[in-house]
Amino acid sequence: MSLTIKVLIGMLLGILVGLAINVGGPLANYFFDSTAFSNFTQVYLVDGLFHTIGKMFINALKMLVVPLVFFSLISGVCGIGDLKALGRVGSKSFALYMLTTAVAIASAIAVAAIVGIGEGMALPAAADFSAATAPPLSSVLIDIIPSNPIKAMANGDMLPIIFFAILTGISILMVGKKAASLIEGIEVANEVMMKMVSIVMAAAPYAVFALIAKSMAELGLDLLGQLAGYVLVLVGVLLLHLFVTLMLVLKVFSGLSPALFLKKIRSAQLFAFSTASSNATIPVTLRTVTECMGVNNSIASFTVPFGATINMDGTAIMQGVATVFIANIYGVDLGITGYLTVIMMSVLASIGTAGVPGVGLIMLSMVFAQVGLPVEGIGLILGVDRLMDMVRTAVNVSGDAVVSTIVAKSEGKLDIAVFQDPQAGIVHGAEDLHMKS
Ligand code: ASP
Repeated sequence: MSLTIKVLIGMLLGILVGLAINVGGPLANYFFDSTAFSNFTQVYLVDGLFHTIGKMFINALKMLVVPLVFFSLISGVCGIGDLKALGRVGSKSFALYMLTTAVAIASAIAVAAIVGIGEGMALPAAADFSAATAPPLSSVLIDIIPSNPIKAMANGDMLPIIFFAILTGISILMVGKKAASLIEGIEVANEVMMKMVSIVMAAAPYAVFALIAKSMAELGLDLLGQLAGYVLVLVGVLLLHLFVTLMLVLKVFSGLSPALFLKKIRSAQLFAFSTASSNATIPVTLRTVTECMGVNNSIASFTVPFGATINMDGTAIMQGVATVFIANIYGVDLGITGYLTVIMMSVLASIGTAGVPGVGLIMLSMVFAQVGLPVEGIGLILGVDRLMDMVRTAVNVSGDAVVSTIVAKSEGKLDIAVFQDPQAGIVHGAEDLHMKS
């Protein structure tokens, strides 16, 4: 049985157990007139076992991110070998990331406006939500250069780490022959980190069960009913983007088979869904695009962490749908300029913010503050946001993989034989972790 199937089973069991806890607690309270059952499930299962296992797993994934990105990016730069090609890869991926994000949010606004989501809905009581201010462009630019690379690594700040790693790679290339043993050492370190990714991934079926069970147990089902319109439109546009827009982009720019791509991307999507973090999923995305899709590490080592930070199609879609939804509920007419501002703000905001859980809401509050929508309106969608975060993160990560594949193909750095082999890179779990003598 492949790991993806095992993770899927863990996920389904997690949904069932989580929902049973969510629904069973209040039922047991009602029938037995005692809170013993719900206290037990909350304290020992949800906040105890599930929380601990889930957090341990997320920590394990995050543990891999910085050393993996650092070593793979340096060996990637050395693999590309010339600055011109590096510049080309950088500008192509940046352009594609911005383009897909802009299309994502524009289509989200269009669909939500056509459906008229939130129109005629009475203003429900909203939870508290305070606005964040958008960082000025100057500070986004300044922060790309780390004043202290160790601090950037300690904080897991992706853009400065990418910057430092690329510069290290370029300097190694410039030193030339003398640095050959260093390159070799870094390539080995990269391989070691990839091995560590497989070790951590082997634990995924159990961890994913715990993560999903916890989210489902905490999700207010009644809230889901109230916000059904928002959830349906949002998930609809997310799926449309994944299956139509992104696959069209893949086909047009690379000529590769969308069906094969969708099959291969599944494990990265499952990890993204379970962790709700593009950053924590970097190790799995990197492994998926290199080993299952045949993207050369020299491209993937750059495009994947770069995409996890600056490319958020799913998050942009959430912002588009939420903007129309809340504008309609509050009876605010944003007009064409308002919506254009939303599109621009979302694209820019996605550059400066990292792919971590819940960051989409913070970006949304920046957008609202900019176009003058009431920020407390965000409180309305807060209750379902964790679930929506999971879905949109899966779309974010898929976008990163699409662009990585296109850029690799255009640079002649895609191993077509690997891409076309449906079995390439499939992990089966612990039995794959044999020792090499
Ligand atoms: N969780 C998302 C990500 O990591 C960001 C967000 O939409 O909140 O990509």
